Amino acid sequence: MKTLAKTDVVIVGGGWTGLLMAKELATRTGLSIVVLERGEGRTTESYADDMDEVDYGARLKMMQDASRETVTFRHDTRERALPIRQFSGFLPGTGIGGAGEHWNGVCPRNVPDFFEVLSQTTKKYGAKRLPQDHSIQDWGITYDALEPYYARVDRLLGLSGKAGNLRGQLLEGGNPFEGWRSEEYPNPPAKRTYIASLFQEASQSLGHHPYPIPSAALSRMYTNPDGVTRPACVYCGYCERYGCMIGAKAQPTNTLLPVIATKKSVTIRTGATVRRILRTKNGIASKVTGVQYIGRNGQEYFQPAEIVFLASWTMNNTRLLLLSGIGDPYEPATGSGTLGRNLTHQVFFTAATAFLEKPLNRFMGAGASGTMISDFEGDNFDHRQLPFIRGGFFQALNTGAHPIAEFGTVPNSVKATWGSEWKKAAIEAFDHIARIGFSGEHLAHKGNFLDLDPVYKDANGDPLLRLTLDWQNNEREMAEFATAKAAEIARAMNARHVNVFPGLRTYDTQRYQSTHVQGGTILGTSPETSVVNTLGQHWQADNLFVLGGSAFPQGGSANPTPTILALTYRTADAVVERYLKTRGPLE
Ligand SMILES: Cc1cc2nc3c(=O)[nH]c(=O)nc-3n(C[C@H](O)[C@H](O)[C@H](O)COP(=O)(O)OP(=O)(O)OC[C@H]3O[C@@H](n4cnc5c(N)ncnc54)[C@H](O)[C@@H]3O)c2cc1C
Repeated sequence: MKTLAKTDVVIVGGGWTGLLMAKELATRTGLSIVVLERGEGRTTESYADDMDEVDYGARLKMMQDASRETVTFRHDTRERALPIRQFSGFLPGTGIGGAGEHWNGVCPRNVPDFFEVLSQTTKKYGAKRLPQDHSIQDWGITYDALEPYYARVDRLLGLSGKAGNLRGQLLEGGNPFEGWRSEEYPNPPAKRTYIASLFQEASQSLGHHPYPIPSAALSRMYTNPDGVTRPACVYCGYCERYGCMIGAKAQPTNTLLPVIATKKSVTIRTGATVRRILRTKNGIASKVTGVQYIGRNGQEYFQPAEIVFLASWTMNNTRLLLLSGIGDPYEPATGSGTLGRNLTHQVFFTAATAFLEKPLNRFMGAGASGTMISDFEGDNFDHRQLPFIRGGFFQALNTGAHPIAEFGTVPNSVKATWGSEWKKAAIEAFDHIARIGFSGEHLAHKGNFLDLDPVYKDANGDPLLRLTLDWQNNEREMAEFATAKAAEIARAMNARHVNVFPGLRTYDTQRYQSTHVQGGTILGTSPETSVVNTLGQHWQADNLFVLGGSAFPQGGSANPTPTILALTYRTADAVVERYLKTRGPLE
C-alpha cells in the first residue's frame, strides 16, 4: 500500500454532505482537504444528453453498480440474506454529487416533535402506546436548535415555497402545521400543475390544508449567499434519476462545486473507493489516522489525515465503520452495541391513483412540482382512537411521466393484464392518471438493523452490508389509514375510477419507495445508545465525524436532505469554531 502525503482533512464521498463540508471548510479555514469519491466526475454540461429514459431511468446510469457492490437482504434473523442483484427499492447514488444529482428536490422540514418522538408520545399518550419492541429515541437536538441551520439550507439551495408559520405567525397558503421558520422561502412557489390544483381543491373541500411542495428547483433565477447563480426551472420533467441539464435543480455540482472549484486547498479524487478507516490508540482518547482506498488503477493507497469525515451515505457510512472495526456492532438478541441499529426506510407508497376525465399533460413537470397536505403528519391529528402513532404527508406531484416507467397503469376494473384490451386501457389512461403519494414516518424497531454479511463479498473481496428489515404493525396500520384518506381525496377530485394501495405486508425490496434510508450510525447524547454525538463526532474517535442520514435515530415522513444538510452545517460550525481549537471530544 502506497502512503500519500498527509492532508488536514479527508472526506469520504463527494455527494451532498461531503461537498457541503468541503465547501464550508475551504471557505472558512486554511485546511488542506482531500475528497475521495468512488464514482466519476460530473458537471452540469455532462447532463446535456441525459433525457434518455432507457439509460438513466430504467438502467440507472447514475447509480451504484450492483454487479460490483450491492447489499444483502432478509426480513428477520431467521432468514438467510440474499444479495439484491438489481437496485429497485432504493437507489444508492455514485459519482460526484452522489444521489444529490438525480434527486427530486422535494424539501420539507421535519415536524418539530419528530426530534422528540419518544418523550412527546409518552407524555401525551403514555408509554403503552409505543409499538412493541420499538427502539425509538429522542435526538438530543430540538427543532428550535436546528432551525437556523434549516434556514441556511433554504438559502443555499434557493428553495421555492410558501411559509406557513413565520416566527409563530400563521400565513395563508403555507403549511399551518410546520415548525416555525425564521425566514420566508428565498423564492416563491413553483408553477402549479393541473394535477396539483385538482388535489388542492379536493383536499381543501375536505377541510385539509394544502400548500405548494417546497422545491429545490428554482421558480426564478436566483443567486445564493455563496454567489452561485442558477436559472429558473423549465419543467422539462427530467429530475428524478437525471441530472438537471440547465442547473435549475440544486445539485452538489451546480451549487457547491462552483465554490469549491475556486479553492486550491481542495483536491477531489474520483475513482477512489475507500475500504477502511484506520486508527491507532493514543493514550485514553482514540484517534483515526486516515483512510485506505483503492484507486481507479487498482493500486491501494493510505491517505493520512488529521480529521476524517465519513460522507458516503447511510449504508456506506455504516459499512465502512463495520469493516474498519470502529464502534460496537449492534446485537439484536441482547440489544448490546450501537453500530448498525435503528435501520429505517421512509414509509412511502402511492396510496391512491385517480383516473381523471381530462388530459393532464403529465409529460411536463419537475421533481417537486405539486401540492402537499400535512394534516396527518406527525402528531398533527388525534391518535387516541387510532391503532398506530405518528403519520405522514400526502402529495400530488407532476414529476414528468416518461413512457417506459409510467406506461401500463390501468384501472383495476380492467381485468386483462396483457393483450389488446390491456394496451388500449393503458394508452387511454396514460395522461389521465393522478397519483396521491403518502410519505410516513418509520419508527425504529429492535429487529431492523445493519451488519456485515457472513457469506457475500463485493468486487474487492470485502463483506457486503446486510439489511435485516421488515414492517411492523404501526406502519401497516398507518398505511391502511393513509390509503383510506387518499382514496377520499381522489374521489373528491371527481375521479372516474380510483385504484388504492393494496397494503403493506412484508418489506418489498422491488417496489421503489424512495432512497430515504436512515440509521446505522445514529446520533445521540450517550455512547450507550448512539454511535456519534449530536454533532456527528464519533464517541470513540474524536477526529472522526459521520455525516448524513445514517445519523437519524428514526425515519421521518419528510424527505431527509434538508435535515441532513442542516446537520452538516451544524457539524461544520462545531468543527470550525470549536474542534480546531480543542482537538478533543465536543460533547
Ligand atoms: C432518485 C432519488 C430521488 C431523491 N429525491 C429526494 C428528494 O426529493 N428529497 C430529498 O430530501 N432527498 C431525496 N433523495 C435523497 C438524497 O439524494 C439524499 O438524501 C442525499 O443525496 C444524501 O446525501 P449524502 O451525501 O449522504 O449521500 P450521497 O449524495 O449519495 O453521496 C454519497 C457519496 O459517497 C460516495 N461513496 C460511497 N461509498 C464510498 C466509498 N467507499 N468510497 C468513496 N466514495 C464513496 C458515493 O459514490 C456518493 O457519491 C433522493 C434520492 C434518490 C436516489
